[in-house]
Amino acid sequence: MLRLSGLKLPLDHPAEAMPAAICARLGLEPGELLSHVVVRRGNDARRRSAIQLVYTVDVELSDEPAVLARFAKDHDVRPRPDTDYKFPAKAPEGWSGKRPIVIGAGPCGLFAGLILAQMGFRPIILDRGKVVRERTKDTWGLWRRAELNPDSNVQFGEGGAGTFSDGKLYCRVKDPRFLGRKVLEEFVAAGAPEDILTEAHPHIGTFRLVSMVETMRRQIEGLGGEYRWQHRVDDLELERQGDGAQRLRGLYLADGSFIEADHVVMAVGHSARPTFEMLHRRGVHMEAKPFSIGVRIEHPQSWVDRARYGNCAGHPVLGAAAYSLAHHCANGRTVYSFCMCPGGRVVAATSEEGRVVTNGMSQYSRAEFNANSGLVVGIDPERDYPGGPLAGIDLQRHWESMAFVAGGSSYHAPAQRVGDFLGNRPSTELGEVVPSYKPGVTMTDLSRCLPEFVLEAFREALPVFGRQIANYDHPDAVMTGVETRTSSPVRITRGADLQSLNVTGLYPAGEGAGYAGGILSAAIDGIKVGEAVGVAIAAG
Ligand SMILES: Cc1cc2nc3c(=O)[nH]c(=O)nc-3n(C[C@H](O)[C@H](O)[C@H](O)COP(=O)(O)OP(=O)(O)OC[C@H]3O[C@@H](n4cnc5c(N)ncnc54)[C@H](O)[C@@H]3O)c2cc1C
Repeated sequence: MLRLSGLKLPLDHPAEAMPAAICARLGLEPGELLSHVVVRRGNDARRRSAIQLVYTVDVELSDEPAVLARFAKDHDVRPRPDTDYKFPAKAPEGWSGKRPIVIGAGPCGLFAGLILAQMGFRPIILDRGKVVRERTKDTWGLWRRAELNPDSNVQFGEGGAGTFSDGKLYCRVKDPRFLGRKVLEEFVAAGAPEDILTEAHPHIGTFRLVSMVETMRRQIEGLGGEYRWQHRVDDLELERQGDGAQRLRGLYLADGSFIEADHVVMAVGHSARPTFEMLHRRGVHMEAKPFSIGVRIEHPQSWVDRARYGNCAGHPVLGAAAYSLAHHCANGRTVYSFCMCPGGRVVAATSEEGRVVTNGMSQYSRAEFNANSGLVVGIDPERDYPGGPLAGIDLQRHWESMAFVAGGSSYHAPAQRVGDFLGNRPSTELGEVVPSYKPGVTMTDLSRCLPEFVLEAFREALPVFGRQIANYDHPDAVMTGVETRTSSPVRITRGADLQSLNVTGLYPAGEGAGYAGGILSAAIDGIKVGEAVGVAIAAG
């Protein structure tokens, strides 16, 4: 088969228009097209009056070599790639060696565990949080009663940070082995909607994610894997080698127990601050890493649909409109939209007492009233937190505490109308946009919760974004703060074998280690690290 991409068709095209379009594009007679299958669908809404669907299709032709030769210079016509996943190693029959350990049951740990289980290595997966249904109750405890459980919340527990999310499944990592396809296929096998395999911007939504991680857990347990909940790793047992390097020999848990281990995947996510502090104390090589801070901004979804799709707003094929914005400011900073959630809500994403953090989520339907997105500014260690590998954590904690106080010290979040923000005055009341953050917001002045260079950059960017998306800078649009956990503030450095640079047997992985950003790239990194551990064990 050949793969044909960039095939454009009108929004409401009939099914039979597809084969006709393929034949026209490739200069074929109808009889020369034997079969076709859609592998990807996106939309091109740059011209709102003529929105088009953009397809990638695999086609079976009567004479593929001839067509390939005719389109040799055309990047949109090529042989269909082999996207099937292949295991790099398998455990020998009856293998009974020391089981690998995976710390963290987020997307990275989940896929590292799944791959190790499918390879036959019966991994043990530890997580400081709880099983997903229990964790959901605790998370709602914060959202409904302002009661935070520091071990069981939006950041910690089965499924990791991404469980209460929009479940957007796309990333920009290079993926020559199509590991992203493996992730999506495993998600569909676990109950995700089939369209995630073909949508250009697939998403799953929270409720579906919950049942999917449960199904994947049962699959891993069925292959001999094991989960241990409320098992927080608090320390490492390291052995100095002759050449001065260190080798991991085991893990100490919060309850004082010890687990012997030679191969450990450390997939603890971007909020595992005590673990980063422990790794630093233990001399594990790590460095501070750039990330971004800001707020969440909300508008009625209908405003965004109108701005993006014009008269096609609300069209079932298009769904709730998303946006992606960026502006380079005069002060050298870049403001950009982050983790935009169409038809969703802003959520309380803190994991530490006395701190307020925002993020966003939506259900598969994306049918809630508001659109929300992170509005953030990039910061980096050299310019903003030069004080060592953990300095970014200190900066996050500082502004999260300021937000806690500005919100009234009750896990309410500080919020401000865009009009008041641009007018340099605190907000005292809402306009027509109602913020969705629970347990609630306190209308105030966000300049108490963010550094001046961020505020300055927002003042410049908002009117610019208002010209790109009508009403983006509407006075009643609401900003809720603070968005500080956009990615990990540290990188736990690893070598080409994916082991820590100076601790053999430790495999830093996923978002927390600074090697992923988002569900899909974390899962892909989990597969890579799971494979590396499996190959190392198989090599003995
Ligand atoms: C509210 C929200 C919405 C999001 N929406 C999206 C989205 O729509 N699309 C997207 O691509 N990304 C989204 N993200 C980001 C995405 O969730 C993360 O990038 C992804 O989950 C990272 O995966 P991970 O496995 O590396 O780490 P995590 O998912 O953070 O998982 C780490 C796990 O490690 C456990 N852990 C931590 N420390 C220890 C310890 N010491 N001992 C034992 N266990 C420990 C934690 O309990 C946690 O379960 C969202 C994040 C949040 C918070």
